[in-house]
Amino acid sequence: MKYISTRGNAPARTFTEILLGGLAPDGGLYLPEAYPQVTRAELDAWRNLSYADLAFAVLSKFATDIPAADLQAIIARTYTEKVYSNGREDSDFTQITPLRTLEPGVHILELSNGPTLAFKDMAMQLLGNLFEYALDKQHAELNILGATSGDTGSAAEYAMRGKRGIRVFMLSPNGKMSAFQRAQMYSLQDENIHNIAINGFFDDAQDMVKAVSNDHAYKAAHKIGTVNSINWGRVSAQIVYYFKGYFAATKSNDEQVAFSVPSGNFGNICAGHIARMMGLPIGQLILATNENDVLDEFFRTGSYRPRGTDHTYQTSSPSMDISKASNFERFVYDLVGRDGAKVREFWSRVDAGGAFDIKDSDYWDELLRYNFASGKSSHYDRLKTIRELWEEYGVMVDPHTADGLKVGLEQRRPGLPLICLETALPAKFEETIVEALGRKPERPVALEGIENLPQKVEVMDADVATLKAFISAHVPI
Ligand SMILES: *Cc1c(COP(=O)(O)O)cnc(C)c1O
Repeated sequence: MKYISTRGNAPARTFTEILLGGLAPDGGLYLPEAYPQVTRAELDAWRNLSYADLAFAVLSKFATDIPAADLQAIIARTYTEKVYSNGREDSDFTQITPLRTLEPGVHILELSNGPTLAFKDMAMQLLGNLFEYALDKQHAELNILGATSGDTGSAAEYAMRGKRGIRVFMLSPNGKMSAFQRAQMYSLQDENIHNIAINGFFDDAQDMVKAVSNDHAYKAAHKIGTVNSINWGRVSAQIVYYFKGYFAATKSNDEQVAFSVPSGNFGNICAGHIARMMGLPIGQLILATNENDVLDEFFRTGSYRPRGTDHTYQTSSPSMDISKASNFERFVYDLVGRDGAKVREFWSRVDAGGAFDIKDSDYWDELLRYNFASGKSSHYDRLKTIRELWEEYGVMVDPHTADGLKVGLEQRRPGLPLICLETALPAKFEETIVEALGRKPERPVALEGIENLPQKVEVMDADVATLKAFISAHVPI
């Protein structure tokens, strides 16, 4: 299996060659040159597999340059009950991603039982083990530099902690995250994890990361890399739970289902699109946005019109507050019949701050054939959904999952079982839960009192030279 760029001008690469990188050299995103197909016989054989065995079956179609025994061992180490048992006490952790049925035909797929209580652990934990394996083979090291306002940074740190050959330098806005989020990250005492609290906002931290990454000589000398959401390893790991959720919600492989996905950077739902392209019987993919509705607008009107960062709203489902959906280009590449020149044309407009529109072209008819639906949710909707779920089913959901449920229930095609992806646990978003229900969410036992643990964090002004000096002092060259 080789990987090609959505912009059509980069050499084909293997899975391990693109694993540690980011964008393709032509500025595009990597995708398989053709999606591997899953036969009916395979679907039947996969139906009762454990999560780890299913993950191996799916991922061995993508990571073809990793010896099977090695891949199997990495996956077996990753998807264990021990790692994914931080959720509700009444969950069946042996399933890794248990299905919670609210009523016949309406389900929540639990993806947030990992160490940081968000679905990003599902892919990031695998990435940590894959990185360690690949670096070991190449006798290489990697220094991951990133900026976070919460979920991604903590998922990356919990995945990379204690890993050979890897250091993490994670910037976060000083004093701007919740006490729980701060405790989650800053209480890590591992030698290879460096938390840096920047006196400024998230955008200041992000700008510092960009400045260091644009200094190509410094970046090469210090082996700087990233783990952002366009990483193909992350997307591929997310394909697995669409299969797992499908099997859990159906009795036979003749049935179709709908998935509803709280979306930001289009990474999660892109994995669903690929699962469907492989042959999983998904009748409908429902995309949910919050007030930042750039993707909902595209699926309703055919116009993709990213907003500037100064037109991004801060909402109560903050992990979906995006202005540009970094993985969306992967779907558009398929939509335009894998025409790299067309993608280049569209993104030359997007990268210049503009937009593109497919309404009056054949691509619009093509889009309808993909069976997407979309909708948006507001702060009011979110609180209402959290309250209704609590009152009707005694189930507490986080604000992002609430957005997915609201839009999923509204948009699903009658007759299709609905599987809503749970992207975080309510314990991460205490304030909004208190606003909706007048009570605090339960916290997994292991995380009780986490705010009282000693913290390790470097406070720094938003100054690139200071950051470089800090990294240099911790990276032997
Ligand atoms: C990252 C995240 C999302 C958005 O997922 P994408 O893959 O960026 O679409 C939604 N909810 C939560 C809780 C997240 O952390």
